[in-house]
Amino acid sequence: MTKRVAIIGAGPSGLAQLRAFEAARRAGADVPELVCYEKQSNWGGLWNYTWRTGLDENGEPVHGSMYRYLWSNGPKECLEFADYSFEEHFGRPIPSYPPRAVLHDYIAGRVERSDVRKYVRFCTPVRWVSYSQETGRFTVTAKDLIKDEHQTEEFDHVVVANGHFSVPSVPHFEGIDQFPGRVMHAHDFRVADEFVGKRMLLVGSSYSAEDIGTQCIKYGARSIIFSYRTKPMGFDWPPGFEERPLLTKFTGKVAHFKDGSSAEVDAVILCTGYQHSYPFLPDELRLKTKNCLYPAGLYKGIFWQDNPKLIYIGMQDQYYTFNMFDAQAWYARDVMMGRLDLPSREDQAADIAKWLAYQDTLTNPFEAIDFQTEYVRELLAATDYPHLDVDRVAALFKEWEHHKMEGILTYRDRSYPSTITGTLSPRHHTTWMKALDDSLPAFMGLPQAAE
Ligand code: FAD
Ligand code: NAP
Repeated sequence: MTKRVAIIGAGPSGLAQLRAFEAARRAGADVPELVCYEKQSNWGGLWNYTWRTGLDENGEPVHGSMYRYLWSNGPKECLEFADYSFEEHFGRPIPSYPPRAVLHDYIAGRVERSDVRKYVRFCTPVRWVSYSQETGRFTVTAKDLIKDEHQTEEFDHVVVANGHFSVPSVPHFEGIDQFPGRVMHAHDFRVADEFVGKRMLLVGSSYSAEDIGTQCIKYGARSIIFSYRTKPMGFDWPPGFEERPLLTKFTGKVAHFKDGSSAEVDAVILCTGYQHSYPFLPDELRLKTKNCLYPAGLYKGIFWQDNPKLIYIGMQDQYYTFNMFDAQAWYARDVMMGRLDLPSREDQAADIAKWLAYQDTLTNPFEAIDFQTEYVRELLAATDYPHLDVDRVAALFKEWEHHKMEGILTYRDRSYPSTITGTLSPRHHTTWMKALDDSLPAFMGLPQAAE
């Protein structure tokens, strides 16, 4: 009997899984029957922009955490698919830091050419997954939101690819309930124009804080205070930005900080990260982790230790993104198709322990980049995924880190060579701080200025 595989989510991770099977099918292999459940009406995951916040048109929690004017925060050369270069997609080299619409076009372009859309059931969130020891199969229940009907089917494997930057972590601060202005989490931030002329407080010291803060200044906010819990970002911030220790409370519009200082602010954005959330999984199958490079309980960062027929793609914190999801998806495909064997439970546990011990030694971003590079390298070595020179990718990530330290408002004006085609990216026609139109035609220098 042909095996059946359920994939939950058609974001970059789920699409990587579809593409991996399609590559095997094109090479002549018999591949399992695939069903990809996607709760949104289109694919692309976070890259599929929505203006909505809270609940979507079907009353489901909005998945999207991306916002207008979002540009890639790392060089595109670090995430380029080894089997589908940017040059192949766009027909010419493009600058290194594209806006969201351009990256969505690239992700979607690869799968559109793979003819895998037929496997995706859109507007169909998975509600529950259970596993039967007797049959050795999973039962997946999903809801077709258009027909308003539940559907239940059995599968040999389930691939969980629902992302982990969608359900916000929202701490409470004394007095925030009385703050007389806008308070939101980064998940609900959509457009910087709302904050023109405002004095803003951003809680958090990671990518969301950095990116939303710089973007708000770009579009006309008056000032940004970043408030850190553990350590400041430490960039050479231009006038208009400052970093302060953790917020302790509000009295009216005044924010008070741990060092005893205070400041009046007009708006607050909690850039305090996200929770791993799998409301469709029972306790014994559910990954429970914070955002880290190697979640415990996953062999090769992929296979659920207690039941390796359950597969997780993309659950790590991410330097590498699209090409790491590919490396995972190709590896998972080969295990599901019986091309790769998993070792004994003991050997799996020892391997996980080795990676967790390595993770514990990491003290800075450069070591973290090396860690994820070694992880991706190990996965790639086991499959026929096209050649990806991870040493060159790692070198680009490290250059990127240096360039951010040299200029947090100018690093996106840099160019890097593709590790796939070797071509050096052209400089963008406009510097990032002056590029206010983030549409694909504007980025590509095409005549019409709307996406
Ligand atoms: P997602 O993109 O989150 O996709 C998951 C999919 O699963 C979604 O389509 C969702 O609708 C679907 N889904 C969820 N629940 C269900 C369910 N129950 N049933 C069916 N379907 C479901 N990475 C970069 O490389 N460069 C960047 O510049 C960058 N910017 C980012 C900016 C922000 C604000 C955020 C939050 C992340 C950013 N990332 C960036 C990282 C991002 O995580 C990855 O690029 C990528 O989107 C992860 O892909 P994914 O498929 O794992 O998850
Ligand atoms: P994150 O990297 O997980 O960081 C969460 C931040 O919240 C940390 O600084 C953490 O501080 C802080 N925090 C958590 N709980 C807190 C609390 N109770 N009080 C104070 N601070 C608290 O999450 P993220 O910054 O949202 O980034 C998520 C992903 O989105 C990343 O992959 C990133 O690359 C991506 N992203 C990309 C772009 C872009 O490309 N343009 C923009 C935004 C985000 P500690 O350090 O103390 O834990």
